Amino acid sequence: MTGFTSTLLRRAERVCQHLPVFLNTFLVFSITGEVSYLVLVEAPLEAEQKAAEWSVWWKTVHLLAQFFMLGNICWNALLFLKTNPSVKGVFLGGDGLGQGWRYCYTCETHTPPRCSHCFDCKVCVLRRDHHCVFFGQCVGYSNYRYFLSCLLFMWSGLLYAMVMNAEVFIVILKEGVTLHSILLLLIPWIMLVSGQVSARAFAFAFIADTCVVGFLLVSAFFFFHLFLLFRGQTTREWFSSRRPYNLGVFGNLRHMLGLRWYLCWLSPLIPSPLPGDGMNFEVTGPLEPTK
Ligand SMILES: [Zn+2]
Ligand SMILES: [Zn+2]
Repeated sequence: MTGFTSTLLRRAERVCQHLPVFLNTFLVFSITGEVSYLVLVEAPLEAEQKAAEWSVWWKTVHLLAQFFMLGNICWNALLFLKTNPSVKGVFLGGDGLGQGWRYCYTCETHTPPRCSHCFDCKVCVLRRDHHCVFFGQCVGYSNYRYFLSCLLFMWSGLLYAMVMNAEVFIVILKEGVTLHSILLLLIPWIMLVSGQVSARAFAFAFIADTCVVGFLLVSAFFFFHLFLLFRGQTTREWFSSRRPYNLGVFGNLRHMLGLRWYLCWLSPLIPSPLPGDGMNFEVTGPLEPTK
């Protein structure tokens, strides 16, 4: 019984770990599907514009832009998950006596500066930034580039989807700002369950809402990480008010995104080797907290 319970718990834990990835994938594909539908079938929603705009050429441009963003989100997410930033398989040549080296009692090894143990991943991670709950993996030295590019394309994709869905809001509200239309936008699930709206109206309102909420959430993450990128800081260092590895804006970009930092964000397929080894970092400021 104990063995059965622990197996069950382990399985439940694994499902919970992967649940955010499934949910995100579902939302990303639903939003892309809905926006493609808007472009192909509905656009423009206002009847008086139907004749003049949205030629085949214009629709193709929209679809190509959407699939470029979707491709980048998926590919970056995949490479982020496949690129393990942990110390597993890394030759930690240090003898543990260098500046900033510590000993991890869980992994039973000496670890370099900026490396720390993740209790979710159960391993030490090189230049650990944070454990990302949406991907169920740590953001560290070797996968930071994919994490940031994924955020960039999620942000631009949601901004685009929000602009496209603005017409949905306009059409719903143009029919009259009634209690029904406001409730449809605020609580679409309740309106669907209580039978007040059709599944189609619910789908449009739900995706339009998801775009707004998602955009606000992703904006906060994206701009915070851009701020950290320019400052050459990890989230952990920012929390502890330390900034000892700042190399100036261009130095930081090079160090965190690789030698082709100016190009690599366009596609995960563009190689951009990282200049360091994830273990040795140039110290340019005080190692102690500044406040
Ligand atoms: Zn460890
Ligand atoms: Zn982790």
